[in-house]
Amino acid sequence: MAELVEKSLNFIEEIIEHDLEIGKHKTIITRFPPEPNGYLHIGHAKSICLNFGLALKYGGKTNLRFDDTNPTKEDIEYVDSIREDVKWLIEEMPMEWSEERYASDYFQTIYDLTVKLIQKGLAYVDHSTAEQMAVSKGTPTQAGTNSPYRDRSVEENLALFEQMKSGSLPDGTCVLRAKIDMASPNMHMRDPVIYRIKHAHHHQTGDDWCIYPMYDYAHPISDAIENITHSICTLEFEVHRPLYDWTIKNLELFPSRQIEFARLNLTYTIMSKRKLLQLVTEGVVNGWDDPRMPTISGLRRRGYTPAALREFANRIGIAKRDNIIDVGLLEFCVREDLNKKAQRVMAVLNPLKVVLTNYTEGVTETVEIENNPEDPNGGKRLVPFGREIWIEREDFMENPPKGYHRLTPDGYFRLKGAYIIKHVETIKNTEGGIEELRCEYIPTSKSGQDQSGIKVKGVGHWVNVATAATAECRIYDRLFTVEAPDGDKEKSFMDYLNPNSLTVLDTIYVEPSVKDLAVNDRVQFLRHGYFAVDKDSTDTKLVFNRTVTLKDSWKPA
Ligand code: ATP
Ligand code: MG
Repeated sequence: MAELVEKSLNFIEEIIEHDLEIGKHKTIITRFPPEPNGYLHIGHAKSICLNFGLALKYGGKTNLRFDDTNPTKEDIEYVDSIREDVKWLIEEMPMEWSEERYASDYFQTIYDLTVKLIQKGLAYVDHSTAEQMAVSKGTPTQAGTNSPYRDRSVEENLALFEQMKSGSLPDGTCVLRAKIDMASPNMHMRDPVIYRIKHAHHHQTGDDWCIYPMYDYAHPISDAIENITHSICTLEFEVHRPLYDWTIKNLELFPSRQIEFARLNLTYTIMSKRKLLQLVTEGVVNGWDDPRMPTISGLRRRGYTPAALREFANRIGIAKRDNIIDVGLLEFCVREDLNKKAQRVMAVLNPLKVVLTNYTEGVTETVEIENNPEDPNGGKRLVPFGREIWIEREDFMENPPKGYHRLTPDGYFRLKGAYIIKHVETIKNTEGGIEELRCEYIPTSKSGQDQSGIKVKGVGHWVNVATAATAECRIYDRLFTVEAPDGDKEKSFMDYLNPNSLTVLDTIYVEPSVKDLAVNDRVQFLRHGYFAVDKDSTDTKLVFNRTVTLKDSWKPA
């Protein structure tokens, strides 16, 4: 079934192949057009994989274009983060963007084209107030009424538009509107505003402009200037398409074609930049790249690989209707990828000390353990072993239930890659809590050369006390407690925050091989899951983020 899906074309590929077949285009050019008003999220990752993936498949090109028509909401910090995130995601595809463009590169061209539009009698300056415009716009079931300024002469409109540009008019004095049809059943065609006055500093054009084109108008022009053949966007723009086509037709531009697909929605996740910004500004998370965020930078910091995100995008495919994807599928994809790639390491998160009373004091030996059973070329590493060992508290029980196969009073237990140990004594503190275990190791039971004849069911990971690396460990849970945090009209997504989305373990013990890891490196902690080195790590203390557990909650349908 999976193969069948891969082989059949999705509807966008069908359109592209048809266009190439009939010779409408010799090659294709797509673009990824983020507005730099926030960090990219996993939904954008889907769009990036789609646009770059199509260009790769058909030997075409993709531009990275910043749709920066709204200077008050945008920032250079966002431009930089977007560039970095796209680069990271496509690095191994192998793919690069053909050009880095900005809608603001075209402000002069858009202005000149707009003068042409006015000369054609297809745009007018409107001095109505915002309220008057809202009223005259009508409703979806009731036609709008023409503005009293609609029939201004071309000369008057040209002069007024020039005046708008000159900077002498305050914000909101008037707007430029396309002259289309106030009775159109499509509200977006009822003389939409195409330019507004905004005395705002722009991160690319500085103070050159005080009028800015509206997104719906600048977008088709930018696409056409770049000869974009297939302009792919999300479904909510379907109703904007007539305006897209109107703009291209009336300005006599390259015939870029807009194609819509369903935006990605994920369970337990919000996906709008505006809402993600609120999480950041209200301090719910520690910045845009907090590992709980569904941003590309958050996922990267959490330990996600570009390959896992691309595989995820690939698996969900392209839909024409809105749907919601189980976040478990995303976790499944990263688990699959890291299972192949991540070196195995032993780490004790909830430590209990074991003293091997018959092991010589002050001696450290090394045992050999394989790095990755999934990777035949993964090799082995030497792990130090000695008289004092950390094991997980969960690996010892005084009064074990039936079927418990780990260490119990007087019982045996194998330390992975090392020896079988036998429990001798439990040391308790004054409150009755277990402080430490005394055990004996069985010298003839060394892994790979076991001659002890003792059968044990339980095997556990461990860390040698004398050589352990200490680290901080951050365990993440879902940021929201419900599947659809913004699906409720009465309540805000802020009402569904999970108070336990972050648990910090101050001190965990890890085998010393991790001392060589660098920020963003990923490992598997045996039996615990996959972990990535956080940028908060210092020379003296490593910080690990749990990417995902080993257990799979998602099952392929
Ligand atoms: P948001 O509503 O989250 O702020 P946006 O659509 O306003 O997103 P843009 O920066 O305008 O963000 O989006 C850049 C591109 O990414 C657009 O082509 C947009 O359609 C696409 N995109 C945005 N969100 C998603 C999503 N959830 N799934 C798929 N594509 C998306
Ligand atoms: Mg937007």
